[in-house]
Amino acid sequence: MRWSVTRLAAAIAIGALISLAVWWAWGRPTRLSDIWPIDLSRPGGFLVDRQIADIRHDAALCSAVLSSPQIQAKPVPDATPRPGCGWSNAVDASVVGGARLAVRPVTCELAVSLAFWMEHTVQPAALATLGTRVASIEHLGSYACRNIRGSPSLADQPSEHASANALDIKAFRLADGRRVAVAADWGRSAPEGRFLSEVHAGACRYFRVAIGPEYNAAHRDHFHLDRGRWRACR
Ligand SMILES: [Zn+2]
Repeated sequence: MRWSVTRLAAAIAIGALISLAVWWAWGRPTRLSDIWPIDLSRPGGFLVDRQIADIRHDAALCSAVLSSPQIQAKPVPDATPRPGCGWSNAVDASVVGGARLAVRPVTCELAVSLAFWMEHTVQPAALATLGTRVASIEHLGSYACRNIRGSPSLADQPSEHASANALDIKAFRLADGRRVAVAADWGRSAPEGRFLSEVHAGACRYFRVAIGPEYNAAHRDHFHLDRGRWRACR
């Protein structure tokens, strides 16, 4: 009995010393991306969502990530075109994961998620199911000052589009000229349909919301991807 009490005391003392050392070494709130930097060349572990979230309010972290070859984007100035609508820490994104994407403004956080997803989900799926890479992404825009039902009234639940924190993707243009569109190819058993369901299923690793035709009729022709507060993958 005495032996186990001694052991317990020792364990408590060691635990306290380790906690003290950790507190002393860091001495300030530490973010995950400080300890474990964002690396676009790898798919990211189970905490990749937390790493990406660190970019939201950190323009310096955004700039650091933008030096990666997997993304080409330039910061754009913060703006509030209308009360309740606008963007901060946003970019003009031209290439993500080797595919052209002309979108501006889009939050840096969302642009980095797109780069992760294109590099580690979409391009491998395109090679495996369609035998080629995606050359460009066709989209319906990122920023729109509206609520989640599409009305310009912001009284209830502004859309993530109101802060340029969402992107609606309607099609992928392949390197061999083929076009895979959500409206035409979703649900088909052909390789185009399998490609779309694979990239949609893999999207929630990097986005908070990834909804498509299965969600509702409003999304019958596009994938809505965002980095907002809610989670939905359907
Ligand atoms: Zn949308």
